[in-house]
Amino acid sequence: MKIDKSIELYTRGKKNLVGAVNSPVRAFKSVGGVPIFIDRAKGSKIFDVDGNEYVDMVLSYGPMILGHRNSTVEKTVKKYMKNGYTFGASTKGEIIMAELVCDAFPGMDKVRFVNSGTEAVLSAIRLARAFTGKNKIIKFAGCYHGHSDALLVAAGSGLATLSIPGSKGVPDEAVKNTLIAEFNNIKSVERHLRNDDVAAIIIEPIAGNMGVIQPSAKFIKELKELTKASGILLIADEVMTGFRSQFGGAQELLGFEADITCLGKVVGGGFPVGAYGARNEIMEMVAPLGDMYQAGTLSGNPIAMSCGIATLKELKNQDPYKDFEKTAAFLEREMKMAAKANGIDLQVNRFGSMINPFFTKTRVVDFKTAQTSDTDKFKTFFWKMMENGVFLPPSQFESWFLSTAMTKRDIYKVRSAIQIAMKAVANKFNK
Ligand SMILES: *Cc1c(COP(=O)(O)O)cnc(C)c1O
Repeated sequence: MKIDKSIELYTRGKKNLVGAVNSPVRAFKSVGGVPIFIDRAKGSKIFDVDGNEYVDMVLSYGPMILGHRNSTVEKTVKKYMKNGYTFGASTKGEIIMAELVCDAFPGMDKVRFVNSGTEAVLSAIRLARAFTGKNKIIKFAGCYHGHSDALLVAAGSGLATLSIPGSKGVPDEAVKNTLIAEFNNIKSVERHLRNDDVAAIIIEPIAGNMGVIQPSAKFIKELKELTKASGILLIADEVMTGFRSQFGGAQELLGFEADITCLGKVVGGGFPVGAYGARNEIMEMVAPLGDMYQAGTLSGNPIAMSCGIATLKELKNQDPYKDFEKTAAFLEREMKMAAKANGIDLQVNRFGSMINPFFTKTRVVDFKTAQTSDTDKFKTFFWKMMENGVFLPPSQFESWFLSTAMTKRDIYKVRSAIQIAMKAVANKFNK
């Protein structure tokens, strides 16, 4: 694979950009080699600066569910560009967007738009504390909720990729109110509830930042009951799963309603949008209605809203969720078959349009079992997939995503790349 121009940009970029990236996982640190620089993308395909073409299964870590530059979305964005970029005053688009979001999530009467998933979650935590008058938050090991201080403990995503438990620069005081429980383990939650200062439990209802891990039906049901019985708020961090697992997110699919819901990624269709929402009683705490302060110069940005509205409407029309399920099931089968044929221990976890393999014998149900994966095998697998035209997240602990723009041909291309990549793993690791 020719990557001369990526190497050149990487070398040049390192001087003035931290690691030549603006988000750590993009540096390809855990898979080695040089990060690929992207030139452009259209539909299901993404092209790097050396002209290599890939089927895109990163999709900007989720937002591009319709593929790149969907024509309806692009037309809408271009139209709104003509009216100006930001006004510091309200626009009709924000109202339409709020209606769309509240309609999709029955637990949300009101919503507030922000600029990222991180912002959505940190605001939701502040809100839960304001509403309950309590301080402690329970989070699950391996779940990632953005990079705010209080949530940078036992976090997944880039921290799992780099094998770091937390972050320097986060004072002990900032995390002393964060309690860690195990995913799919209700006892580990109950243990913390002896503490009477718990404001909320935050969860990725379908975990996607330690690889894909689905909750058992019983676990979600018990969480809901437990929070309700003890007056604790349940915060669903649906930044990844919102509009992706189903139009109404993991909550629609799993059949529960959270007290506060956080959104990001798909909701902006590729522009920076995050959101948090809840029933009236809770959202009325937020300024200007209440005394919990939260603001943003660019929040509800008109171009971002136009992209979000067009994306959500198109998504609703296309209703791709059954097809996603079929494609993911196909890829699961193909990966398992290729692994078996080559004598490789492999687990494949998936939920809706999120899927990824783990190179381990152990069934992956939480952060601990996810970490039994052989990341060296993933590394070999990753580069073979890239060489054979499939753009994957450069980490064992990130989900792959499907888009509605993927064709049968794309999917067969992914399958043949999988067959080649599994063989390469076997050649290297099976003696
Ligand atoms: C991506 C993600 C975030 C952080 O969103 P940013 O837009 O990157 O700040 C938070 N929670 C979950 C579940 C995510 O997947």
